[in-house]
Amino acid sequence: MKLLVLGIFLCAIFIGIALYASSNAPKQTVIILLGPPGSGKGTQAVKLSQELNIPHISTGDLFRENLSKNTELGKKAKSYMESGKLVPDEIVLEMLFDRVSRPDCVRGYLLDGFPRTIPQAESLEKHLKDKANVIALNLQVRDEVIVKRAEGRLTCKQCGQMYNKNFAPPTQEGKCDKCGGELYQRADDAPAVVQERLRVYHEQTEPLIAFYEKRDILTSVDGEKPPEAVFAELVEAIKRHS
Ligand SMILES: [Zn+2]
Repeated sequence: MKLLVLGIFLCAIFIGIALYASSNAPKQTVIILLGPPGSGKGTQAVKLSQELNIPHISTGDLFRENLSKNTELGKKAKSYMESGKLVPDEIVLEMLFDRVSRPDCVRGYLLDGFPRTIPQAESLEKHLKDKANVIALNLQVRDEVIVKRAEGRLTCKQCGQMYNKNFAPPTQEGKCDKCGGELYQRADDAPAVVQERLRVYHEQTEPLIAFYEKRDILTSVDGEKPPEAVFAELVEAIKRHS
């Protein structure tokens, strides 16, 4: 009888410890990087994922991976792309949720280029429930600055090195400092193309700022500062919200 009581007592203690440990398990950190196209998001995303040692997940990479491995999702996406249609949200979401369920994402991950719309943000929220600590970071850069950056951007035809007529010009006009290759303006950086991307951003993606502000998990950072200063502020914001 005594043994039975002792046994029950010990079991209760073990269950108590297990419950305590699970309630204190660190939550997964999910970082969402927002900002207009050309705000330097991609560069910051790469640096942040190195600093925090969590995977950097961009929708572009997800597409490329699924297409090159010819997965079922990749095949579906391809059929939309080939007929010039936008890949529907369900497919993008399925690719994303498949990716973030892998072991390297257990501690957390950083999303770049997702969510792009309110419905996508709602789906992500539903998927994460309250299992993750979500931190939204917003890079603020004015349209005119983005247009000016793009308009001055020059790329080397040979090595891909980038310059900027207005901010970081090559030593010799039209020539790459590194390899002497010819510099040109990418079609992507033409003012009309940049303006159109900004229009789509304001219409579809900018509402996410209010969406995450309402949940009290958004920090906006002045993205017009030099990249190192922007990076330091982003790291600071993550620490505050962790
Ligand atoms: Zn070059």
